[in-house]
Amino acid sequence: MPHKRRAKTHIKMQMSRQDIEQSLRDKGLQPTLQRVGICQFVLCMADHPTAEDVHAWAEQNLGKISLATIYNTLGSLVDVGLLRELKFSHSEKSIYDNNLDEHHHFFDVKTGLIHDIPVQNLELSMNLGKPFKVEGYEILLKGTVKP
Ligand SMILES: [Zn+2]
Repeated sequence: MPHKRRAKTHIKMQMSRQDIEQSLRDKGLQPTLQRVGICQFVLCMADHPTAEDVHAWAEQNLGKISLATIYNTLGSLVDVGLLRELKFSHSEKSIYDNNLDEHHHFFDVKTGLIHDIPVQNLELSMNLGKPFKVEGYEILLKGTVKP
């Protein structure tokens, strides 16, 4: 998969409604009102939300919507590559990530928040032996973050 490299830290995508509609169309998805609304939240505002987080936001801002619709929408955004679905060991729930750059995560055990860690901030020395050919790695760090 080709990777566009962005500058050091992840800057939330600033997308207008028109930008969102266009990128949905580019990916072959119909820019329905609901879909565009959900995109505004998951692509521009949210920080590693669960489907339940997205659902809560959507119910408040878009009106009645089923959790199944949220899952379907998130699923299609993941399928077309606008969003990544992550699974971490601290929860059985998927987390949706709008940072498409290669990066690691830091899980704050106190607040439950997940922070992005740029790849260049972490150095790993590996001693795995011959059979392993490493093509990439994603690390979940755990700890606390000073306010
Ligand atoms: Zn992330």
